[in-house]
Amino acid sequence: MTDIDWGQVAQGWLDRLAACSESGPGVTRLPFTPEHRAALAVLTELMEQAGLTVSLDAAGTLIGRLAGPADAPVLLMGSHQDSVREGGAYDGIMGVVLPVLALAWLQRDGHALPFGVEVLAFADEEGVRFPTALMGPRVLAGQFDMAALDLRDRDGIRLRDAMQHFGLDPEALPGLRRDPADVLGWVELHLEQGPVLEQAGQALGVVTAICGIERHSVTLTGMAAHAGTMPMALRRDALAGAAELTLAVEAMARDTEGLLANIGALQVRPGAVNAVPGEVALTLELRAPDDALRAQAGDDLAQRAQAIAARRGLGLAMTRTYAQAATPCALALRAALGDALRACGHDAMDLPSGATHDTSAMAELCPVGMLLTRCQSGISHHPDEYVDTSAMSAAIDTACAFLRNLRPKPL
Ligand SMILES: [Zn+2]
Repeated sequence: MTDIDWGQVAQGWLDRLAACSESGPGVTRLPFTPEHRAALAVLTELMEQAGLTVSLDAAGTLIGRLAGPADAPVLLMGSHQDSVREGGAYDGIMGVVLPVLALAWLQRDGHALPFGVEVLAFADEEGVRFPTALMGPRVLAGQFDMAALDLRDRDGIRLRDAMQHFGLDPEALPGLRRDPADVLGWVELHLEQGPVLEQAGQALGVVTAICGIERHSVTLTGMAAHAGTMPMALRRDALAGAAELTLAVEAMARDTEGLLANIGALQVRPGAVNAVPGEVALTLELRAPDDALRAQAGDDLAQRAQAIAARRGLGLAMTRTYAQAATPCALALRAALGDALRACGHDAMDLPSGATHDTSAMAELCPVGMLLTRCQSGISHHPDEYVDTSAMSAAIDTACAFLRNLRPKPL
C-alpha cells in the first residue's frame, strides 16, 4: 500500500515533459533538437530523484540505471522520448516515466532486486525527422546500418551532423552493442493507441505479439473515356474495379480473426469530373500478429484482384513493396506480466499490438514483453491523446509486482 498517488505523480512529470515541445498544438519533439535536450533535462531530474545513475549513450538514448548485484544480468525497460508532429503527451514518453516511478517506489519500500534495471529513453522511434527510426534499440541489438547516418532531414541536415551537434559521437555506435548474455529481457509500457482496452473495461493488457506488416502497390488499368459519350456497358472503369477490390479487402479482414487491412491512398487518372477513370494506383496494407495468416491473406487478395480485373477487362499490376515479420512476445514475460496484473487485482487481458514499437527492434537482442495502457477513445498521434491517472497508477503498481517477482534466470 502507499500514501502516494503514483498516477498523479506521473501526470505531473508528463505535464513538464509535454512542455518540451515546439510551439503549436499538442507535442512536437523531434530527435536531436532543443526540445529533445529539454526533455532529457527533465528525465534526468526524474531518474536522479528515483535514485538511478543517469548517462547518455552515443545514440542519444538516456539511460537510468539501478545497479543489481555484481555480475547480475540487467532488465531493460523504457520507450521513446520523441513524438510525431502535433502528437500527444503520452506516446513513448509515458513508457519512460512509469518504470522510473516503479523503481522509485520499490526503493522507497527498501526492496532490493536480484538484477539490475536500466530504463531507456530512446531518441527516435517515430522516424519523423529522418527517414529512418529505431536507431537506439537497433544499435543495442547490433542491427543498425551505419549508412543511415548520411540520411538527411527536410532541412538537408545529415543525421550524423545532427547527432554531432547534439554532442554525440556517431562513430561510437557499433561499440554500444549489448551482449545478449548480459540482458534478462526488455519490457515496454505504452499506451494502446486504440480503443480495445477501454471498450473491454480494462486499464491494462498484455501484448501477445506486435503485428507483422506487408504493403502492396496495386495498379488497375482500364480505358479513360468521355463520361458523356461512352455507354455504361462498354466502359472499362478502373475506379469501379478499385472500389470492388476495396470492399473485398474490407470483407476479408472483417471475416478473418486478427487480420487488419487498409487501402489508404488512391490516385485516379485522369481525375476529372467528366472522364471515366482510366487508371487507379492504390496502396494495400495488411497487418496480423501471425505471419502465415497475413501471407495467406496477401495471396488470397491477389487472386481476388485478378478475378475482379479479369471480369471488368482491366489490367492489373500488384507488387509487394514491404514486409516486416511479426514480433511475438516472450511467453515467460507474457506470463510474468499476466501474473503481476492478477496479483494487483486486475484481469490479465491479452491483445496484439497493431502498431510498431521500440520492442520490435529490441526483439533482435533479447526476449521482449509489452504492457499496454488504455487510452481515451483510442486517440493517439493527436493533441487529444489522454491516459487517465488511474490507468497509469495501475501500470506502475503492476510494474512493481512484475519486478518484485522476476527472477534473474534465462527467460
Ligand atoms: Zn510510441
